[in-house]
Amino acid sequence: MVKKVLKFGGTSVGTTERIRHVANIIQKESSLGSKIIVVVSAMSGKTNELIKLSKEISNEFNKRELDVLLSSGEQVTCALLAGALIKLSIKAKSMLSWQIPIITKGEHTNARIINMHVEKINKCLDNGEVIIIPGFQGISKNGDVTTIGRGGSDATAVAIAKIFNADSCEIYTDVDGVFSTDPNKIPVAKKIDKISYDEMLELSSLGAKVMQSSAVQTAMMYDIPLEVRSTFTERKGTKIFSQENIDYTKSVTGVAYSKDEAKITVIGVEDRPGIAANIFELLSKAQINVDMVIQNISSDQKTTDITFTVKRDDVSKTKQILKNNKDIKYVAIIQNDKVAKISIVGAGMVSTPGVTYRMFRALSDENINILAISTSEIKLSVIIEEKYTLKAIKKLHTIFDLD
Ligand code: ADP
Ligand code: ASP
Ligand code: MG
Repeated sequence: MVKKVLKFGGTSVGTTERIRHVANIIQKESSLGSKIIVVVSAMSGKTNELIKLSKEISNEFNKRELDVLLSSGEQVTCALLAGALIKLSIKAKSMLSWQIPIITKGEHTNARIINMHVEKINKCLDNGEVIIIPGFQGISKNGDVTTIGRGGSDATAVAIAKIFNADSCEIYTDVDGVFSTDPNKIPVAKKIDKISYDEMLELSSLGAKVMQSSAVQTAMMYDIPLEVRSTFTERKGTKIFSQENIDYTKSVTGVAYSKDEAKITVIGVEDRPGIAANIFELLSKAQINVDMVIQNISSDQKTTDITFTVKRDDVSKTKQILKNNKDIKYVAIIQNDKVAKISIVGAGMVSTPGVTYRMFRALSDENINILAISTSEIKLSVIIEEKYTLKAIKKLHTIFDLD
């Protein structure tokens, strides 16, 4: 019998009316005789609302308790959806992560799923029941509730598809699939029928939140084909699978952007071996991720300026760490947190010369200054002033024939 994992995101379960609509989709699937495991997100806006509540208590809200709080959103949708299915005379049951259990490892609010017990769920599936599981959470080895990072219900769905050896993993969301760029920002964006794991991983890591990046990474690692499709239309979605199955006619597949970047320049650091290593070692020990790095050529051979980008939330911590470390000497630190990262992604870039210069020329034609650059085999990212984000995406979308 076919086994399917169906995941429904926040907007798809955003109201009780939508939950009833989701129940109808599941009823249709279940009438085809498949074994079905459903993963749900919290109703849209709920997780943000809960974070806001925690901040009203404290800006340094205890992380263990934050996980207890945040995990509650998905519990609500699980019960509502199971109830809606039962009303349609479908045998359905919610199973919370501690009941299964889903085991995670790592720090609170950012744990990852490492194991899952299958016995109880298999028994229910054999009994013809539809199982509803809350995304985004699990329990640690010592039984504490954990969450696995924002957008984490995608990762729950993929982990379940892997552990239960599902025949398909369908990600139902509020757009028709993966587009060449965010269709809610650029209406001429085009739906992509097929995309490789590598490209999807780059797009989601670079800001396309339609799929969470760690979910794509797991799918790629275990070769689990995914389909992203709409809860609200019956249109064909986007298939995400390995590269051999895809023909590339275009050099660029998609454009992504992220506005949670900040640029920091440390001015007047000593120009000698080991200084950059010292700075970045300190930041890495504090779990601060440095993305792009530029070091100016020193004119006096004694001092230089090092520029790098970090997440906007990490700016104060970064400055504090550099200030507190007496071994790192510098003249000043300047920051710009009104920047955005714009990226073009495409497996076809590997075999197409000139993509880099076309991107730079397109931005210069729009009078947009490039503040930092980073590249990999299938992506090219630049940092620009945040106010030019939309203009840059539109231009790149057009010149790389994506409109
Ligand atoms: P869900 O709640 O279903 O998980 P998300 O809000 O996490 O949905 O992701 C869907 C959203 O991702 C869309 O509404 C869209 O605005 C945004 N998005 C950003 N980039 C893309 C892209 N390249 N293709 C499709 N959607 C994108
Ligand atoms: N509810 C969680 C969030 O908003 C997880 C998810 O929706 O995937 O991040
Ligand atoms: Mg999501």
